[in-house]
Amino acid sequence: MKQDKTIEIRWHGRGGQGAVTSAELTALAAIHEGKFAQAFPSFGPERRGAPVLAFNRISSGNPIRVRSGVTKPDIVVVLDPGLVTLINVTDGLKPGGALIVNSTKSVEELQQEFTGDWKLGVVDATSIARELLKVNIVNTTMLGALIKVTGAIKLESLEEPLKERFGARARSNFEACMKAYNSIVISEITTSGPKKEKSFKTEKALSWKDLKVGCIVTEAGNTKQFRTGDWKSQHPVWDDAKCIKCGICSLFCPEGCVSQDKDGKFRGNMYYCKGCGICSHECWPQAISMVEGVE
Ligand code: SF4
Ligand code: SF4
Repeated sequence: MKQDKTIEIRWHGRGGQGAVTSAELTALAAIHEGKFAQAFPSFGPERRGAPVLAFNRISSGNPIRVRSGVTKPDIVVVLDPGLVTLINVTDGLKPGGALIVNSTKSVEELQQEFTGDWKLGVVDATSIARELLKVNIVNTTMLGALIKVTGAIKLESLEEPLKERFGARARSNFEACMKAYNSIVISEITTSGPKKEKSFKTEKALSWKDLKVGCIVTEAGNTKQFRTGDWKSQHPVWDDAKCIKCGICSLFCPEGCVSQDKDGKFRGNMYYCKGCGICSHECWPQAISMVEGVE
């Protein structure tokens, strides 16, 4: 990818996954290299788990005057594998650009879902982050993937921004970054056939003008208009053999979406569950496990 023009990057993540931090670190690294750079987020009143966007512009030649959001990115980075079925992450992606996805799927499997005239890079950043950082926060890991696929910034340029941001944890974050850099699988641009139409199951959010007065309901979730269960990247699974029917999970679920079914089993309503893991944390008989992915 040429460095003599402005490169635009769009990050797709969820609240709490660090997409905004990724963009900030990318900009700081670019500035460290003597380039001009911007980093800024776009989100509404969402909470942890809601889809969020962050953007970068990097120019090696001229100051960047544009201040609007990135609608025609050269590079798209997807931090959460669940988002690719919910959001059209390739919207506006320029021909010759790159799509970089955190996923356990292979490049070949993802190519069945996406077609376009851009490179596809796939890395299991979640496993790398869990192994090296002990948390499912993949933002710094995905920086390694970004660098390998695009060369937008240099790996070593990240060291100072990581130290400033993470202090003693900078080393493990850099190691995660390096591991993604070394393990990402990249397909070159191969698609010349017709573009595949991909359908998305997310319901369209209503504008505030279309919301009914008194739309906050007493059921689970904030509003009936939003399928908040799409926000999760992991979901709870109940082990009925261990469950002693104390009801603690139901009491502590912040979404109010856990209840007892007609057979007496406790279950969460996955339409609203945001995958926060509180039920699993509070269940002292350890009858609830958190499993990756949207059920
Ligand atoms: S907290 Fe655990 S043991 Fe109690 S009802 Fe829920 S799943 Fe069962
Ligand atoms: S993970 Fe558990 S506590 Fe959190 S929203 Fe889902 S069911 Fe409720």
